[in-house]
Amino acid sequence: MRYLLVLLAVVALLAETVAAAPPLRRESIRVALVKGSESVRLDGDGMLVTDENGEPLRIALPAQVRRTRDALSVGSRTVRRLTAASPGAVIVNGKRYRGAIEISPVDKGLVVVNELPLEEYLVGLINCEISSQWPIESVKAQAVVARTYAVFQKRARAGALYHLESSVLDQVYDGCEIEDSRALRGVNETAGEILAYNGQPIQAFYHSNCGGRTEVAENVWGFPLPYLRSVDCAYCATSPSLRWEQTIPLKKLESLLKGAGVQVQGLRDIREGKRNGSGRLSDISLVSARGTTSMPAVAFRKAIGYTVIKSTSFTVRVANDTAVFAGTGYGHGVGLCQWGTRQRAADGFSYREILSYYYPGTVVYKLYDGQAVNAH
Ligand SMILES: [Zn+2]
Repeated sequence: MRYLLVLLAVVALLAETVAAAPPLRRESIRVALVKGSESVRLDGDGMLVTDENGEPLRIALPAQVRRTRDALSVGSRTVRRLTAASPGAVIVNGKRYRGAIEISPVDKGLVVVNELPLEEYLVGLINCEISSQWPIESVKAQAVVARTYAVFQKRARAGALYHLESSVLDQVYDGCEIEDSRALRGVNETAGEILAYNGQPIQAFYHSNCGGRTEVAENVWGFPLPYLRSVDCAYCATSPSLRWEQTIPLKKLESLLKGAGVQVQGLRDIREGKRNGSGRLSDISLVSARGTTSMPAVAFRKAIGYTVIKSTSFTVRVANDTAVFAGTGYGHGVGLCQWGTRQRAADGFSYREILSYYYPGTVVYKLYDGQAVNAH
């Protein structure tokens, strides 16, 4: 009985953690659009452009914003920071974005950050990550995992210049060009919903195609998370991205490995090493004139390129100084499988059933009574 009371107290405490979280109704998110470039082109209708003190800058548009030493130059002006907002969209390098655009000089080049309401960000994101033409329950599942991922990163990177990259490093985001009514519906019908575990937003990793079984976080990043377990997923088996093959000369592989800092000279052969519980390779062996060294398959995939070696579930054969990789799946395999989700939704599962399958033990939590995003 005493244990039960303690347990109840713990559960109550954990429930409070989420409840006590600040409301995100007007919560915004900061996404890095451009990093390291020396200049960007800025345009838009009815734009208000201000400097670091909030003073309006009268500049002719379109304008080229350049980095000069530790400041920015635009037209004949030099400013420390530049903010642009428009009732419509701000156009950066020809792409349209909602919300405000902030340009700052950093160590290398400049950084362009898009600050916008979280829910609007999600509407733009859907068609970068999947297609809104997929069954609506899969669009809703994508909206919830992307929102959860964003909220987690926002908390983890509080105080940083931005919360999210706009590439596969975080979530792919390309502005508002590809918003549509189904993406909007997927976001609005799940407004404010995130996945929580023990009262906290989860690290909602997801990937394109697991190839038949998802992966535990530990095998990719070295740390375990209780809700990122390995589950069977036969649902992505019909996807066009299930199988892949790459033929790469050993010379090319050697130069890519060297570029990634791997010491290898005279690469002769590549062999599959151990496999982990999900069937993916844990490591691979590099055979060279100097002997055999082994490296983690995850590091190998990173060195050769995530879009070339699409997963760590592959076989490799070397003949005539050329390696032939044949694999299944696309992505790290952790968390939700996007193609599996598509098929599950087509088979009639709800987005909540799909989410609880890929993230066991999690619950859907509503951060706020999400204000519907209006169609623009
Ligand atoms: Zn799958």
